[in-house]
Amino acid sequence: MALLPDKFFLMNFRGICPSCNKEVVFRSRDSWLRDNFYCTNCYSIPRERALMLVIEKYYPNWKELKIHESSPETKGTSLKLKTYCSAYTASQYYNDAEPGKSINGFINQNLENQTFDDNCFDLVITQDVMEHVVNPEKAFAEIARTLKPGGAHIFTVPLVNKFQPTERWAVLDENSNIKFLKTPEYHGNPIDPKGSPVTMHWGFDIVDHIKSASGMDTEIIYMDDLHYGIRAEFIEVLVSRKLQ
Ligand SMILES: [Zn+2]
Repeated sequence: MALLPDKFFLMNFRGICPSCNKEVVFRSRDSWLRDNFYCTNCYSIPRERALMLVIEKYYPNWKELKIHESSPETKGTSLKLKTYCSAYTASQYYNDAEPGKSINGFINQNLENQTFDDNCFDLVITQDVMEHVVNPEKAFAEIARTLKPGGAHIFTVPLVNKFQPTERWAVLDENSNIKFLKTPEYHGNPIDPKGSPVTMHWGFDIVDHIKSASGMDTEIIYMDDLHYGIRAEFIEVLVSRKLQ
């Protein structure tokens, strides 16, 4: 008799991956699909595939656009944007280095205080970044400043509070150290082994915060489509547009 572990879980589904444009098998060995339902070809996860579909739908000419991605991944949708978009700029934030300097192929940028010119990007992309910024109001205002009129910030962020109001989870203390207001929480960060502290628990009212911080109107797009390997909790894609 075969013995299975208590928490055995396996999900396999064949479909088309928006992040690598191939017919693939999507597979998860964990019931928490958000971080585990991989494309077996490019290792994208559901939120990356949802983001790519939204970019393709609203900006089908994205390969010709000027795109800034903050804190990109090294795989999946970030890799696709980097590979096919000729005017793609990737930034990371190294707070002990000179702003605007090129470091390891990234431009050093604090999202809250960027050195980019006004009106210079067609698209700004962030993937699970906006729950880690200390002053999201400044970050949204700066993103709007750097977008061209008609451009958009297309991003994923876990809207964990859903219909409950957004909560601030951490602030900076007087010595610029993170001070949690609630239970300390960190997410993985490719450039920092300590991980990134979670500063915000966003709800659907994020659209009001973005509007008052930046003037941009935001659409929240939820998808559930196994054909594209898109099924998980908290995979809304947000599109904030700068007026023409
Ligand atoms: Zn893929």
